[in-house]
Amino acid sequence: MKPDGVLQPGDTIGVLGGGQLGRMMALAAARLGLKTHIFAQASDEPACQVAAAHTLGDFAEDAALARFADAVDVVTYEFENVPASAAAFLAARRPVRPGPFALEKTQDRVIEKDFLNSIGVPTVPYAAVDDAGALIRHIGQIGRPAILKTRRFGYDGKGQIMLREGSDVGAAFRALGQTPCILEGVAQFEREISVVAARGLDGSFAAYDVCENLHENHILSETRAPAEIAPQTAAAAMDITHRILDALDYVGVIAVEMFELAETDAAGRRVERVLVNEVAPRVHNSGHWTLDGAITSQFEQHVRAIAGWPLGSPRRHGARVVMNNLIGEAADGWRRLAAEPGACLHLYGKGEARSGRKMGHVTRIFPKGEA
Ligand code: AMP
Repeated sequence: MKPDGVLQPGDTIGVLGGGQLGRMMALAAARLGLKTHIFAQASDEPACQVAAAHTLGDFAEDAALARFADAVDVVTYEFENVPASAAAFLAARRPVRPGPFALEKTQDRVIEKDFLNSIGVPTVPYAAVDDAGALIRHIGQIGRPAILKTRRFGYDGKGQIMLREGSDVGAAFRALGQTPCILEGVAQFEREISVVAARGLDGSFAAYDVCENLHENHILSETRAPAEIAPQTAAAAMDITHRILDALDYVGVIAVEMFELAETDAAGRRVERVLVNEVAPRVHNSGHWTLDGAITSQFEQHVRAIAGWPLGSPRRHGARVVMNNLIGEAADGWRRLAAEPGACLHLYGKGEARSGRKMGHVTRIFPKGEA
């Protein structure tokens, strides 16, 4: 790496985490002549199967982290629950991109919403809940239905409980393990949308189309790009994303998940609003469509950003792009999908198709004029 922080072809990107996001990042890096070195827990993890090297270890093991840092030119991550201590340890040795500040602001749901509101980005109403008494007090203000979530480590709907009229709130708090929680008002949304965007080392910005996300059992099942929303709503979503990236002094790809609300004003006009649900400081499942459906994939874009290279074009191919996750046994249909003309099949190299496990995805690009 040169002193200006820019990687040269042949340099090595260190990736914390060995899942499918790290795998697709490694494949994109290889295309640009960069090597990847994965920090993982087992050598058969999806990313280790395709990377040049890996270090096995735990985030609490300084010796393993030091060996990993010595072997790489820059450090990035494929999931946001990297402990702050590990991020600081690595940042003292190598550039960590995105930086530890982005992790600090996005790992905890209360800190994240405080940060968003502090930069003028709207969210649902919320309150920090540390004990059952606080929960009873705050549910009076926020009203029902409300959602109780653990502040940290929640994903795919895990660690959250809906509180309706008559729900036993004390039992809900106990069911979440009496850990620090957040109580959120429920957004009566029209759609769930997300913006996947990147900020370069020089502060440049590039965003993909706003896309719409459909979930099944709290797990993303389908992403449609572009979302069918009013141009001013898309512009508002982009503006929010740009503001978040600048405020975090971010380098890399980010995903901002949002709710689109449609309300009627006093004059009877339809008004659309956007609230941010959560921010993922990494490449994201709702950006997988860009692998086949955009000039530069989100994985290549992330690699370019953290390498200090110019960002690529985020322009979409075709009129519409649809990505479907292959979850659990859905991946057993790989032969049929492989035979389907125009279906772009991705399988992540995971052995066992447990229910709820993301095994792969398939993307279809629809040219103009096709349904
Ligand atoms: P999360 O883990 O926060 O992304 O939540 C998972 C899913 O639960 C979201 O994609 C929404 O479908 C739903 N959800 C979470 N929080 C809220 C909220 N405050 N209002 C309405 N729906 C929500």
